[in-house]
Amino acid sequence: MKYGKKLKSMLKDLGIAKVGYGYLGDILPESLKHLKTGISIAFRLSDQVIDDIHDGPTYSYFHHYRTVNFRLDQVMLSTVSKLQEWGYLAMPIAASQSINTDGNRYRGIFPHKTAATRAGIGWVGKSGCLVTDEYGPRVRLGTILTNMEVDYDKPIKESKCGKCTSCVKACPALAIRGGLWYPGIARKELVDARACSEHMSTYYKHVGRGSVCGICIKSCPQGNKVIKKAAKEV
Ligand code: SF4
Ligand code: SF4
Repeated sequence: MKYGKKLKSMLKDLGIAKVGYGYLGDILPESLKHLKTGISIAFRLSDQVIDDIHDGPTYSYFHHYRTVNFRLDQVMLSTVSKLQEWGYLAMPIAASQSINTDGNRYRGIFPHKTAATRAGIGWVGKSGCLVTDEYGPRVRLGTILTNMEVDYDKPIKESKCGKCTSCVKACPALAIRGGLWYPGIARKELVDARACSEHMSTYYKHVGRGSVCGICIKSCPQGNKVIKKAAKEV
């Protein structure tokens, strides 16, 4: 309990835009259940890099995507080190890693977005991206699992996408189905991950070996309002 505030402040100092604590004890696999606290961290992407995406990923976006993932991994490493120094168990979930244990190669060890919604960071948009009030989907996520006791943040249980269909219309792969997220909904109900992945590897091979796109992130009005506001203030 005593380190909750201190850790949040430490993470902000490391450049993390949003930090939340979520209870995950009821949804973790048996082998990880003792690490019931999920620390969700969100790194804010560059608005300019996202805004320069038009009909496909840019070289800058691919580099930015990889650099932010690397930064998240480094921040998670520092966090684990600190938690262990304080006497707790802690485990980082890789910022971007696909594992293939059951024939489904589009998921990691534990979903960052589940931790993020439990920790009050945002909701899952129709695009399948985590959407925040402040920066829309212009964030990337990391998760640390720990047995440290904390005051949990209020989980987000409802989508705020409403009637918006910007990402549905913008997706060149027709991969976004248009449904509203709720906790527990299967990812495939929101997005056809295979169609998305196949589109990227077919059309964007020349940028980032076909592993990024960014069009749905760019199209989201929740994120667009941020750059409009920033442009106005200059
Ligand atoms: S990343 Fe691109 S292809 Fe995939 S869902 Fe988003 S817009 Fe569609
Ligand atoms: S573009 Fe609209 S529907 Fe898609 S994630 Fe953003 S707010 Fe939700």
